[in-house]
Amino acid sequence: MSRDWKEKAFARQEEYLNKLVPLLAINSIEDLTTAAEGKPFGEGVAQALEYFLKLGEADGFRTKNLDGYAGYVEYGEGEEEVGVLVHVDVVTVGEGWTTPPFEPSIRDGKIYARGAIDDKGPALAAYYALKLVKESGLPLSKRIRFIIGTDEESGWLCMKHYAEVEKLPEIGFSPDASFPMIHAEKGQINPTLAVAPYQSQADSTAWVLHSFASGDQGNSVPEKVKAIVSMPLAAEARSTIQEIRESWQAHLARHGVTGEIQQQSDGTLCFEAKGKPAHGMEPHLGKNAGTIAAHFLHQFSFQGSDQAFLGFLSEVLHEDHWGEKLGLAVEDEVTGRLTVNAGIFSYDRAEGGSIRLNIRYPATIEPEEYVEKLKKRADELNLGISSLRTSRAHYVPKDHPVVQTLSRVYSKHTGEEAVLLSSGGATYAKSLKAGVAFGPLFPGKKSMAHLTDEYAEIDDLLRAIAIYAEAMYELAK
Ligand SMILES: [Zn+2]
Repeated sequence: MSRDWKEKAFARQEEYLNKLVPLLAINSIEDLTTAAEGKPFGEGVAQALEYFLKLGEADGFRTKNLDGYAGYVEYGEGEEEVGVLVHVDVVTVGEGWTTPPFEPSIRDGKIYARGAIDDKGPALAAYYALKLVKESGLPLSKRIRFIIGTDEESGWLCMKHYAEVEKLPEIGFSPDASFPMIHAEKGQINPTLAVAPYQSQADSTAWVLHSFASGDQGNSVPEKVKAIVSMPLAAEARSTIQEIRESWQAHLARHGVTGEIQQQSDGTLCFEAKGKPAHGMEPHLGKNAGTIAAHFLHQFSFQGSDQAFLGFLSEVLHEDHWGEKLGLAVEDEVTGRLTVNAGIFSYDRAEGGSIRLNIRYPATIEPEEYVEKLKKRADELNLGISSLRTSRAHYVPKDHPVVQTLSRVYSKHTGEEAVLLSSGGATYAKSLKAGVAFGPLFPGKKSMAHLTDEYAEIDDLLRAIAIYAEAMYELAK
């Protein structure tokens, strides 16, 4: 059967590409300036959604538009459903494209366009898989619901709306990541910790932290930092600028980053450094400009809140990627270690400070215990928690029928063992109770999602059609 699916998929190459090019040509970046009734994410996104629903109608499927937030194309009969979850929105394009991002171009077996691999190419591959299943005439005991989302790249409001007006399928897959499959995703705890405003009575030997700012996204390692400080008033407690500059440079060099100090007209010193950004789910791959700067400044005699803020960054958060000093370290076999990213720091003497953390916990642990540990640790450190958001982990066990079935199908088509993957971030599959991310990127292939000159390899998309067709059939038969 696998060979048949493959032959059938490759026989549709021309037709598939003829349908893919106009879909990729739609600029479906979220654009709220063109949002309207039934088009909550703007004109382009609405057009791309409509494109799929029209295809579905023309091919004789049941279709439905859910107020412009999402839609579906459905095939088969039965009580139960298998969900196949794709999205038509794309991220912004940036600069430097060889050919314009919304003028699809085929070169060397690749199709170049924004959305080629994330996620319109795979979405249409899954749609063609559904067509092949229908044309095969094979009997099914479940319905296959091909669900088109429109807000995956932003707030997932599409799935929220879907869940309000319909019931999301319990099992299925999402062709929006990598093969063989991602079956486990870490959960998140996102606290903002607060340092009180400065109220101490400083003596003349104290250094002063006027302000400190670093990072602008909780889920990224901060690249830059800017701290404004004053040296003590007492002459004997001061150093020369030259000495400070030398030891600052030595400190930055030890951490493999760069920076400088400027003396400002009011006499204050402005420390700046440039670290290395990284995704918040892999904080150890970055260099946190904020904690590196604090680690340097903390050697001087700051007092009160100045000292509390710098001390927390320097003595607890600096290089605490696994939450050891926060007292949160834990790992599991499925998704690995808990990670801590300190993503945003801001401090102003009069207003106090805030520190935004992005903590990602292993999929198989209960987060409540770690939230409690965090609260206790914050208490010990005299920090408040001004906000705390959590999002659950996602985990479909290895012996679950969905994982078993898709593993079997993948191995049949590739001759490779389906090694299960996990992720520190969330994939679209999380929307389905027992959903996994299943392709379309084959092992060893570079992911061009969100990049300039995004492309998908046409042969890989056709192979994906065959795999998805057999997967849909096996799950719904
Ligand atoms: Zn995507």
